[in-house]
Amino acid sequence: MILLQGKGVSKGVIKGPLYFFQRPDTTVNKVEGADIEAEKARLAEAQAKSMEQLETLAEKCREEAGDESAVLFETHAMFVEDEDYVECIMDTLAEEQCNAEFAVETAGEQFAAMFAAMDDAYMRARAADIKDVTRRILNNLMGIVDGGIDSDVPVILAADDLAPSETLQLDKSKILGFVTQGGSGNSHTAILARTMGIPAICGLGDSLKEELGGRVGYIDGETGQVVLDPDEITQTAFEAKYKKQQELKELLNSMKGKEDVTLDGREMMVYCNIGSPDDVAAVHANDGQGIGLFRSEFLYLAASDYPTEEEQFEAYKTVAAAMDGKRVVIRTLDIGADKQVDYFEMKKEENPAMGVRAIRICLNRPEVFRTQLRALYRASAYGKVAIMFPMITSVWEVRECKRACQKVMAELDAEGIPYNKDTEIGIMIETPASVFIADALAKEVDFFSVGTNDLTQYTLACDRQANDLGKFFDPHHPAVLRALKIATEAAHAAGIWIGICGELGADLSLLPTFLAIGIDELSVSPSSVLPLRAEIRKSIAKTCTLDLLKC
Ligand code: PEP
Ligand code: MG
Repeated sequence: MILLQGKGVSKGVIKGPLYFFQRPDTTVNKVEGADIEAEKARLAEAQAKSMEQLETLAEKCREEAGDESAVLFETHAMFVEDEDYVECIMDTLAEEQCNAEFAVETAGEQFAAMFAAMDDAYMRARAADIKDVTRRILNNLMGIVDGGIDSDVPVILAADDLAPSETLQLDKSKILGFVTQGGSGNSHTAILARTMGIPAICGLGDSLKEELGGRVGYIDGETGQVVLDPDEITQTAFEAKYKKQQELKELLNSMKGKEDVTLDGREMMVYCNIGSPDDVAAVHANDGQGIGLFRSEFLYLAASDYPTEEEQFEAYKTVAAAMDGKRVVIRTLDIGADKQVDYFEMKKEENPAMGVRAIRICLNRPEVFRTQLRALYRASAYGKVAIMFPMITSVWEVRECKRACQKVMAELDAEGIPYNKDTEIGIMIETPASVFIADALAKEVDFFSVGTNDLTQYTLACDRQANDLGKFFDPHHPAVLRALKIATEAAHAAGIWIGICGELGADLSLLPTFLAIGIDELSVSPSSVLPLRAEIRKSIAKTCTLDLLKC
């Protein structure tokens, strides 16, 4: 039996084989003097496989979301067989006498550049499709597995740590849980695990060795234990815990359809945090009453070039429509710091958490901002969309954001495109500066949402990604809780609502404090909705105290 100890960051017990994430090398090298006939045969095989994959994806979309959503994959399938594109690949093969990978990459680059230079905005947007199709054919040529998991059965996914862009590409249906060498409770792997409602353990360090891959065992996301090849006694103990967990799930299911109201009638809105349109299924499954944080950066992280207005519009519209009139707070681009996107070509920074990130990038790059705002406003015609700006520190930033919104609304008016003129605008309170000037900021917007992950980091000067800060990284610190109180008083004085969308919102031990402070909304991972509801319905708001704010 092998026992490893890490830090549990998403609760639950699960049994399965350990599988190490395959980080593919996607670099294409030119091989000269290749056997052209053999390369053509390889290419034909890769094209056939790509077509097969795209047909499966289109079929899946059709079943889950109707004909319209399958169009993207059908278009990609057309590109795979496009006469000009294939001719270009063949010409390169013949001229360069090279390997198929090099010919495909060359043709992909040429076609993408050609589309990108076109006058028509729709045609320009097709450059991203060509890049996508090219990558798919290349992956099939190079034997790179889609989703990074080459296994027929679901696995416990092991990795050093997963980058945000990597978590987006994973085939989630194959993941039972996560174990990582590095990471922290705020890492994207942890956030993803909580969204999926599956266990995760981070900080296992060097004890998590690749040679353990294939061994079967249990992980416990509460205690942080990984047990491989368990003996009989351990197996019995884990099975008992697993059974209890399933019973608890059943019990929580009885909370579905009930109101988020305390015994003395105080309402608390319980919303969900999501990272992509796929997560809406989990919101419905857990009966979330709205979406309090849609991290829009998934669109940017998953792409190899700036996502177009059309692509963004489709994603936002899908979520807004699927929530059927319930509020959907979509946060504008929040990259930089730990979320790096190559094509933004950001300068390397000594201290990126305090560098050009989030709203600073948008205000520095008005075109990028405008594209996103246009997509957001257009989506507002299909549901109750609210727009939220991250990392605000100053009133002028908010005013500049609002001016950008007004400009976009005027454009849409002129073009006769429908949108909701009353779309709510809010900001994240996640810097100490925004807390100190919350009274002034509250006069500018319709709501606040506190990002406790960053607020804790900046208030306590503790890196949220670091694994070894231990007791110094304390989100329960009175300074953080007092910041919540200051922001809440400012919000309510201005007549606006305030929520928490950082991970602290799901901390059941703090619910009485949140009720005492007067927080109106908690936005949590979908899997935390029902436990939170159960706790709210047991609480008496008027007996809750501010004791934890004392030092
Ligand atoms: C936060 O900082 O608490 C937050 C919700 O935003 P993110 O985790 O995406 O930075
Ligand atoms: Mg944040």
